[in-house]
Amino acid sequence: MKIGFIKEDKDTRVSLTPEVAKKFKRSNHDLFIESGAGELSNFKNYDYEEFASVVSYSDLLKTSDILISINPIELNKLNSDFSNKIYLTNFNSVDTNNFLPTLEKNKIHVFDLGIIPRTTIAQSMDILSSQANLSGYKAVIKAAELLPRMFPMIITAAGSIKPAKVVILGAGVAGLQAIATAKRLGAVVEASDPRSAAREEVLSLGAKFIEVEGAVEDSSAGGYAVKQTKEYLERQKKEVSKRLELADVVISTAQVLGGKSPILIPKSIVDKMRPGSVIIDLASASGGNCEMTQDGKMITYNDVKILGNSYLSSDLSQDSSNLFSNNVYNFLEYIINDNKISNNEEDEIFKQCYITKKIKFN
Ligand code: NAD
Repeated sequence: MKIGFIKEDKDTRVSLTPEVAKKFKRSNHDLFIESGAGELSNFKNYDYEEFASVVSYSDLLKTSDILISINPIELNKLNSDFSNKIYLTNFNSVDTNNFLPTLEKNKIHVFDLGIIPRTTIAQSMDILSSQANLSGYKAVIKAAELLPRMFPMIITAAGSIKPAKVVILGAGVAGLQAIATAKRLGAVVEASDPRSAAREEVLSLGAKFIEVEGAVEDSSAGGYAVKQTKEYLERQKKEVSKRLELADVVISTAQVLGGKSPILIPKSIVDKMRPGSVIIDLASASGGNCEMTQDGKMITYNDVKILGNSYLSSDLSQDSSNLFSNNVYNFLEYIINDNKISNNEEDEIFKQCYITKKIKFN
């Protein structure tokens, strides 16, 4: 098939890297990439030329059967050349109600890669996991840069330095990577999460688990945490608050399926935090876990630095592009059969992420 990769407007990442282009080529697809698409990830046009044709945006639309971008393109770029194409992107944090009628009217077949089910078979296609992993790592590195202290314990002739105290809220994909990274840097790490499975994972990484009784769990939520009761959140706030007052760094990643992120760090707690401490709020795009978080900004309040950023994986654009690109490759390998994509409403992955349900493939 003819597969085209669009240059991102406001992202350092690219949906095809030269490494993955080589893999695609072995599957006998014809690849097209918009000129300059890899530039911000340090992939030059000439890095692609052996495996893909480097073309303009209008030529990309004209030649491709399948179009791919990491972020949904602006509605005004959806011209008539987009009609009857297959489009893969991540609508996860975007309200698709604005998009769907236009997409369906223009017969654009859309797969939302942000809602791939959390099943074993879909793991290699899961863009949220691959990006969250890198965000967890980068959150700790950012915090280490911003903190006016060291992470490891050090004993010198001039005196000793105590290890930094790091609290991780939400021990999912990003949280676990943050725990592992903070531990590697020598910090003392504690973590909180309402899922009982998270407890074992936290302990296996050598961190302490903040025990709170009475969490609500739902195995049908597909790995996601569900909304917690007011009583649980109160108990959790009490346990977590004691740690937050002593913490040097807090990395918050707590999210619940389809809802606003829970507030776990109210202003009253930030008021009591140590001067110089740092909060990295990875849940900022869905409201944030800290009451003071401003999405996409770093602020200082009460001598505490608070960074709200859910897209830290973009700061590691080479690795995040490579993982995203591999996710796309695995998804297309799965969904393309006999050189075409057809309606397969029985298939769990197809059913969940094919969002333009009113239009069918021929
Ligand atoms: P997520 O991004 O939805 O949420 C981040 C974390 O916040 C979760 O661990 C969640 O339990 C936690 N959280 C929610 N409310 C909280 C609260 N009040 N306090 C503290 N923490 C709270 O989750 P995620 O990181 O994408 O993954 C969650 C789980 O799903 C993990 O166990 C992960 O391994 C699993 N998963 C499986 C697959 C797969 O099998 N294909 C893919 C992705 C994730």
